[in-house]
Amino acid sequence: MHRKKLTFISFIVLSAFVLFSCSNKNESKNNTIKVVATTGMIYDAIINIAGDSVETEVLMGPGVDPHLYKATQGDVKKLSAADIIFYNGLHLEGKMGEIFEKLQQTRDVIAVAENLPDSLIIKSNAFQNAVDPHVWFDVKRWQYAVKAINEQLKKSDPDNALYYDNNTSNYLQKLDQLDLAVKKQITQIPLDQRLLITSHDAFGYYGDAYNIEVKGLQGISTLSEYGLKDLAVLNDLIINRKIKSVFIETSVSERAIKSLVEGVQERGFDVKIGGSLYSDAMGDFGTEQGTYIGMITYNTNKIVDALK
Ligand SMILES: [Zn+2]
Repeated sequence: MHRKKLTFISFIVLSAFVLFSCSNKNESKNNTIKVVATTGMIYDAIINIAGDSVETEVLMGPGVDPHLYKATQGDVKKLSAADIIFYNGLHLEGKMGEIFEKLQQTRDVIAVAENLPDSLIIKSNAFQNAVDPHVWFDVKRWQYAVKAINEQLKKSDPDNALYYDNNTSNYLQKLDQLDLAVKKQITQIPLDQRLLITSHDAFGYYGDAYNIEVKGLQGISTLSEYGLKDLAVLNDLIINRKIKSVFIETSVSERAIKSLVEGVQERGFDVKIGGSLYSDAMGDFGTEQGTYIGMITYNTNKIVDALK
């Protein structure tokens, strides 16, 4: 009897221990998926698809140039703790290739822009075999990146698949509307004035999608230097076509565009700086320009106002 009682007590104690350790395990084990995005555009897409059902961090904030960006110690820590890493790819994050290669062995590392069909990728004439990474500037092309993010989130978190699918389809609808709005707005610029001159070749996809010619002083990466010849060619172009404005970019030094403007003004044509466009980085988080839709809208308003 005594022995039986002891066994019973042991059973109670053991059960309590098992129960306790189970609940303890559940509490300490954080099941939330950790996601890291390189650019704000990718971050914004993740937020639209997943809300706060995943933990999302972004490496490159406002004004940061992804072409030149090197991962900090803090970034490496964030990246190493992540379950999924979303980056643009197509060599946008030119100095982070090695880190991504290494991390790929232990977690999902997804180049969202590389989800585009090859036929939609712009190859640059300026560089041999170089591809243009700035795919977010065609809203339709960016939808491929959004879909790639959704697919990976569903794979990593199948319990929330339906939620992600619904959010993605809502977001894609908003992007359809945005695409139409930009197309319509650009038509306000007379055809012979549709020339978008910026610091570097970030707007190739924008030009292709929305029927506006684009020229960048630097190539498709800010790593390349511009020469006096480039300045002279753009100088002539502005004067011959009487282009009213050129643009600086928030993530690139404005020095080159300023010297272009000075050169044109010295020749007696009053070209202006039409504003500062968000090219490779979005605006401050919490502002309208800190969202993808807000950034495209803001840029388009600036471009149309300054060129029409
Ligand atoms: Zn760029």
